[in-house]
Amino acid sequence: MPSLAPSASLPHAAEPCPSCRPVRLPDGTRSGCWRCGDMLLRRLSSHRGHLLQKPPAIAFHEDFWQSQRPSLRCVIVVDTDTGHAWTAPIEHFDRHAITLSRGCGPQVALPFRFWQRLDKGNGQRPATQLALALETAS
Ligand SMILES: [Zn+2]
Repeated sequence: MPSLAPSASLPHAAEPCPSCRPVRLPDGTRSGCWRCGDMLLRRLSSHRGHLLQKPPAIAFHEDFWQSQRPSLRCVIVVDTDTGHAWTAPIEHFDRHAITLSRGCGPQVALPFRFWQRLDKGNGQRPATQLALALETAS
């Protein structure tokens, strides 16, 4: 198993800041993502199956991704169930993302090994169980 990337400070707060703007889908519903300048912040629920397990990855619907890709510099994903957070620069998507289709349209997925896990920094032991479980599930 590859070693996990060292933790780093969160490049953005785990919660939307006053500068963040919610990204809406074409039908007007909230996407669960916010844009803050050239960053995309996504809040998801691992307990509701929002993380891909085979392969272990974080995925975006392709049309949503294409709408956000211009002017994007990095992506931050926060699991609201565990508080875990990950970040990846846009270059990792360009080089390593894979396209999947699981019955709900094409998705752009970036495997976990290309994300840097960010710890909560609250003094607790880093909670790696989810990422480890997902990495070993494939
Ligand atoms: Zn913000």
